[in-house]
Amino acid sequence: MVTIVRYDPHGQPKNRYPREIISPPSPSACCIRQMKRTGGMQRGEGGWPYFYKRCQVCGYTVREFPGYGELVQLVLRRGRGRREGLKGVAWRTWIDGIFAE
Ligand SMILES: [Zn+2]
Repeated sequence: MVTIVRYDPHGQPKNRYPREIISPPSPSACCIRQMKRTGGMQRGEGGWPYFYKRCQVCGYTVREFPGYGELVQLVLRRGRGRREGLKGVAWRTWIDGIFAE
């Protein structure tokens, strides 16, 4: 699995996006409210998009896969009219298009 996150129990948390993110190995109480996306959309296994989400307090970082609802919103925002809706959307082609930009 290609990821820039390194879980290091001894190192200081660091955000060197897009090269490397050093994260504590486990989340803390602060992570419930302080997780924010870092950087742009990434491409994971099978071409599916994801984001890095990092705690603003302790630096804990995980990958977050946008849900179906969010992907639908993205498709509709990208010039595909609501009237057309999602009819005939080929996810694979659409995702390829995003990363080709
Ligand atoms: Zn935290």
